[in-house]
Amino acid sequence: MNANIAVIKGDGIGPEVVTEAMKVLDAVGTKYGHTFNYEQLLMGGCSIDAYGDPLTDETVAKAKAADAVLLGSIGGNTSTSPWYKLPPNKRPEAGLLKIRKELGLFANLRPALLYDQLKDACPLKKEIADRGFDMLIMRELTGGLYFGERKTEEIDGVMTAIDTLTYTEKEIRRIAIKAFDIAMKRRKKVTSVDKANVLDSSRLWRKIVEEVAKDYPEVSYEHMLVDNAAMQLVKDPAQFDVVLTENMFGDILSDEASMITGSIGMLSSASLNETKFGLYEPSGGSAPDIAGQGIANPIATILSAAMMLRFTFDLDKEADAIEQAVKQVLVEGYRTGDIMSDGCKKVGTLKMGDLIAARV
Ligand code: NAD
Repeated sequence: MNANIAVIKGDGIGPEVVTEAMKVLDAVGTKYGHTFNYEQLLMGGCSIDAYGDPLTDETVAKAKAADAVLLGSIGGNTSTSPWYKLPPNKRPEAGLLKIRKELGLFANLRPALLYDQLKDACPLKKEIADRGFDMLIMRELTGGLYFGERKTEEIDGVMTAIDTLTYTEKEIRRIAIKAFDIAMKRRKKVTSVDKANVLDSSRLWRKIVEEVAKDYPEVSYEHMLVDNAAMQLVKDPAQFDVVLTENMFGDILSDEASMITGSIGMLSSASLNETKFGLYEPSGGSAPDIAGQGIANPIATILSAAMMLRFTFDLDKEADAIEQAVKQVLVEGYRTGDIMSDGCKKVGTLKMGDLIAARV
């Protein structure tokens, strides 16, 4: 395969961790006979410094022309960086919002996987952590409460704030299809999370999910109310495979699911549109506190590259090879500082990338 990848290394630890992900992709290319062509683009603080704009239209056009985008992270220290003296629409994060919108990314995927070797970092009770978990939270990203009409006004002398939660049949169907498609690549189970006992939008959500489920007889599915889902995540996370939910519920549940894995440096993510195109990035930020020291954990970004192989390029075998290589280095006891524990071997960003690339 000959794949064109737009690479946005970004700010802070972004360049350090993305370089390692590219190293691992190249190792996959060599082993399996693929060519990954990279076009490096600027976004965030580095783009402000170069062009006075966190994301230029030219960069958007180049990202759109690629098959996928691999992103590090953007932004600086929000208290001290001069980027945060700029108006909000000129700050680094404005670039992120713009690229998501321009690329039509409506499905956000965040895996939450507890590695055997990192169980001590899991804040749940030992007997729950010992069962392990491996789930994927799929959050609708462009509809719902965050994008509905909102206003604050005085009604009969009382200040009143109104936010509206809207979902169309089309918006629900396209993300439900993604969830069932992805479940077919995993353990074939979808848990659709809603609040159908109260909300009309959730009742429509449920109806459409049921319609979509008919096309996937191999996938088992269930509905779960969001309050119960929040409890089940900490009580019995092993029950989940793909968790499908709307924007605000997904915002909250995906952070809860990240938290129980215990380490931000391990968490990958993907945002997809209606085609195979996707933007792949670590869940964490640019970590300005450790940038430039060569100690950041590159695994979240390396696993994001594995998601890119799986979801954009349908290279499942190659994605498995990266995920296995990550497990292998953990089994062998190598750790970056953020996941270090007694008796393990501490390595920096570059060495961790080398070790994983060598095991692909
Ligand atoms: P952060 O995720 O950057 O850092 C939180 C903590 O986690 C820090 O102690 C950091 O050192 C640690 N950490 C994060 N990633 C790590 C890694 N790979 N290896 C080891 N340790 C890691 O969150 P923050 O400090 O709130 O934000 C810093 C900047 O990042 C801000 O400018 C923020 O706006 C930006 N940000 C960007 C994105 C993005 O690009 N998608 C996401 C979140 C935050």
